[in-house]
Formats: sequence, structure tokens, C-alpha cells
Amino acid sequence: MQRKPRKKRRACKNCGVRFSGRYCPYCGAESGHRNTLRSSGFFIGLLRFLLSLVVLAIVLVLAFVLLDYVAASGEGAHTTAIAIVDSVKNALPKEVLLVYSSMKETHLDALFAWTQKLLG
Ligand SMILES: [Zn+2]
Repeated sequence: MQRKPRKKRRACKNCGVRFSGRYCPYCGAESGHRNTLRSSGFFIGLLRFLLSLVVLAIVLVLAFVLLDYVAASGEGAHTTAIAIVDSVKNALPKEVLLVYSSMKETHLDALFAWTQKLLG
């Protein structure tokens, strides 16, 4: 009867935990290497945080624009979309809504007409 060869254990260079396998079970560093995502410094972390806020803002704006067009279509049939858009419009400052409505008239209406023509 043959014994299984023991797996080689090594100490994680990030946190010091001894483990075998590819990833440290404690901190998630690969093969005991330093986890570069966690030890990249304050300003890189701040930059990543701000970038994630920008991405979140873009996603929220896109969702609002899509909901606004859904609410405007269907002659009042999309009551949930209308309620969400109305509550968001109540929460936003008037200046932001003015900028949005001018952007909608100049760019978004043409874009949505073009996509509707494209889809048939
Ligand atoms: Zn570790």
C-alpha cells in the first residue's frame, strides 16, 4: 500500500499562515506571494475607490435614463417606472433636471429614435 505524498506546505508572504495549495486560505494571496491588490498603498486605494464611485454614478445615470424612456413610452402603462422616475426627479435639484432635460432634447432623443429605427 502506497502512501500519498504529502503536499508541500509554505508560509504565506502576506500574512504568515502556513498552507498547501495555490491560494492562502486566510488572506487569499496566490502561492504565498504578496497580495498586490491589498498592499498597493493609500493613493492607489483612494483612486480605486473614486473610480468605483464614478462607475456606480455612470450605471445609476444609465438606469435613470432607461427608466425615464420606459416611463415615457406606453402611454402611462408603465406605472412602476413612472413612480421611480418621479421619486428620483423629486430628489434631484432643479438645476440637475434642467441640464438633464436639455441633454435629453439635444442628444438622447435622437439616440433613442436612432436605436428604435435600428430595431425596427
Ligand atoms: Zn496569507
